[in-house]
Amino acid sequence: MKVIDLIKSNDKTAFSIEILPPLKGTGIDKLFETIEILKEFDPKYINITTHRSEYVYKDLGNGLFQRKNTRRRPGTVAVAAAIKNKYNITVVPHLLCSGFTREETEYVLLDLQFLGITDLLVLRGDKAKHESSFVPVGNGYYHAIELQEQINNFNKGLFIDGEEMKVMGQPFSYGVACYPEKHEESPNIDADIFWLKKKMEAGAEYAVTQLFYDNRKYFDFVEKAREAGVTIPIIPGIKPFSKLSQLSVIPRTFKVDLPEALANEAIKCKDDAAAKQLGIEWCVQQCKELMAHGVPSIHFYTVGAVDSIKQIAGQIY
Ligand code: FAD
Repeated sequence: MKVIDLIKSNDKTAFSIEILPPLKGTGIDKLFETIEILKEFDPKYINITTHRSEYVYKDLGNGLFQRKNTRRRPGTVAVAAAIKNKYNITVVPHLLCSGFTREETEYVLLDLQFLGITDLLVLRGDKAKHESSFVPVGNGYYHAIELQEQINNFNKGLFIDGEEMKVMGQPFSYGVACYPEKHEESPNIDADIFWLKKKMEAGAEYAVTQLFYDNRKYFDFVEKAREAGVTIPIIPGIKPFSKLSQLSVIPRTFKVDLPEALANEAIKCKDDAAAKQLGIEWCVQQCKELMAHGVPSIHFYTVGAVDSIKQIAGQIY
């Protein structure tokens, strides 16, 4: 069943998780362990992130450079297929503009179609580490909405060069990202909501939020989005702190604020165990409040936080 139907057919708040493909050169067993630990909570679907290539240029002299690809977490499609195969669960690989040409995206879509994987999360993706602002690779796209158009054309049986193909199997359906505390490049929340509405009109069936710790910001964002005509489900994304350093790293990395009550407790944490416990307690309260407000689903970012999520899910599901 596709994600939107899974969410809508669930009579209680659905549980879903996001995982990262393993680091290059490591096996998939650790990922399966994560799923084994969390599967008692009946995840309705599993997202698998995508990580762009980073290129490093080594000066060989004589004007020659050697290009080294440092893609640290390849394998999204294969990981999605392996999980689908082993657990018979809906998988949602992330499809990015970032780091991919249109041709490369087309090949990914063809692979996914052969595998019968038709749920996607469509994203622009992060900029390369050495870039100060986002730059597409080759003829790649600037924004998620352009990638949506390529997928929509594929669903209609059109390759990127306009050539027709035989439409096979289910069409792709997809969600997109949104940001209750605004995307870092957006001038304001209203501009972000404007583009979210455009992404909905272009075919996004639901949106998943960036992680946040302040439910008020999520509720305000949803209210504003509804006023602006965004009607699709807006699924909250939750990530518990699991170590001391994350109390400052996560807000900085993801451009989110800690509400005063959480910031006051964070200051008192002296070690990883205390930060982890605070993360669990805070997210339990967050989730209970979100559930009381009738959110359709809660999406958990699992990286480095599997045990915490198990404890949270154990208290709320
Ligand atoms: P866009 O929708 O393109 O929006 C980016 C910015 O441009 C926003 O400010 C928006 O308001 C504005 N905008 C949108 N469309 C237009 C337009 N047509 N013209 C002008 N402005 C526009 N990153 C990864 O690299 N891999 C992942 O797997 C990954 N997974 C994620 C999952 C979730 C749930 C979330 C919330 C984020 C994820 N990210 C991932 C990070 C994400 O790719 C970055 O936040 C990226 O900078 C923006 O992606 P987007 O899809 O929101 O982009």
